[in-house]
Amino acid sequence: MALVAILSGAGISTDSGIPDYRGPNGVWRTDPEAEKLVTYDFYMSDPAIRRRSWLMRRDAALRKPEPNAAHRAVAELERSGVPVRVITQNIDGLHQRAGLPDRKVLELHGTAHRVACTRCHVRSSMAVALERVEAGEADPACTACGGVLKPATVMFGERLDPQVLADAMAIAKACEVFVTVGSSLQVQPAASLVGIAAEHGARLVVVNAEPTPYDELADEIVREPIGVSLPKLLAGLSGSDG
Ligand code: NAD
Repeated sequence: MALVAILSGAGISTDSGIPDYRGPNGVWRTDPEAEKLVTYDFYMSDPAIRRRSWLMRRDAALRKPEPNAAHRAVAELERSGVPVRVITQNIDGLHQRAGLPDRKVLELHGTAHRVACTRCHVRSSMAVALERVEAGEADPACTACGGVLKPATVMFGERLDPQVLADAMAIAKACEVFVTVGSSLQVQPAASLVGIAAEHGARLVVVNAEPTPYDELADEIVREPIGVSLPKLLAGLSGSDG
């Protein structure tokens, strides 16, 4: 059966209450300074940026985002027996929370549910770090070595895990259908996967409210809200492969 690859971006999670960066209500449109909170050099060099970013993460966690209809539709497609691989730029873990097995998800930009020490590289739980913030530590340091802690995400200015990127490229080359959903496709190298899939003959579907730089390669463009359009689109894919 034909492999379906799904590249998801922040737009798939806006219905879960997590703002995207570049959409009409995106964090960067309302607060241009917010880009610094997820840029490695600013984060490492400026304790004030770190203090702000811990508060942002604490507030985000307090909102307890839940998967939405689009995440559930992706998990449902996989359960229907269609071979599916999700390559996500998101760090929210909502695909897995919706029931998609871990082995089906490549987190290109890491996860916000873990923290990593920038000195000794030990990883630990974000929830525990946020408890320390809640208890009054403005910028909790690594408990093993005292180094600067950051979320286990790929910030701007950091390299992607080469193995994760290689796996994503292999999927882009092998799939028969490539659906990109909720991404402005402006972040590289994630966006380049779209071109690779198209070059290797995949049918390319772009699901995004706003135009993307890859629209001209698309076989189908869907502008309707993701929460409605993606479930419809994916139901069609599972039906057609019956
Ligand atoms: P982006 O903010 O650049 O683009 C999101 C796109 O989704 C926009 O073009 C917007 O118009 C569209 N969109 C938003 N909600 C939509 C909806 N309901 N229906 C249709 N279209 C909708 O996001 P990106 O391309 O993923 O790049 C941002 C980077 O920031 C990523 O690397 C990601 O790691 C990170 N990020 C992640 C999260 C998350 O984990 N949920 C949230 C914000 C940013």
